[in-house]
Amino acid sequence: MPQLDPKILADLKHEGLVQEGHYAYRSGRHSRLLVDRDRLLTDPVSASHMGYALAKRFFTDHLDTIATPSIWGAGLAQWVAYFLDPKAKVVYATPKNGVATVAENVVDLIKDRRVLLVDNLIISGETMRVFDETIERLGGTVIGLGTLWNGSDRQIAGHDVIGLLNSLYDAYPAADCPVCAEGTTATPIPY
Ligand SMILES: [Zn+2]
Repeated sequence: MPQLDPKILADLKHEGLVQEGHYAYRSGRHSRLLVDRDRLLTDPVSASHMGYALAKRFFTDHLDTIATPSIWGAGLAQWVAYFLDPKAKVVYATPKNGVATVAENVVDLIKDRRVLLVDNLIISGETMRVFDETIERLGGTVIGLGTLWNGSDRQIAGHDVIGLLNSLYDAYPAADCPVCAEGTTATPIPY
């Protein structure tokens, strides 16, 4: 896991976007980290720092396209694409009958391209699993998955997941949670 620039974490804490405690996510995993899903990317300066950190991690992977399945991932995807050299293109999913699909007129940015999938958070991993299938079906080569925090498995659909905050705050299956072992009760999180 890449080490996170301590300034980024300090900013996030200062803005109240992350908190420390003992939390149970709907995936069944526990963590010491609570991320404010709705506000995490509301500050463009800290969003740009996080985008830069992810771009740096994938800098030598020759990415053509950053693809994101959610509106929350869109702001982050722009920054990641911007900080690559050469800059990548960005593809947003279009919701169709509740499924994240890719509009036909941007399929050329996926087909035969090296694609990084980005979302602000990965909680259960299900959205990314489905989106990965979509991208691969359209002929894209998925190089990896990048996110600010991954509360799911370390690999999704056979790809490594890079979660920026995971080097400091991992997500544990409840049965192996070291915070539970300290004797505190986890606060349930509605996502
Ligand atoms: Zn726990």
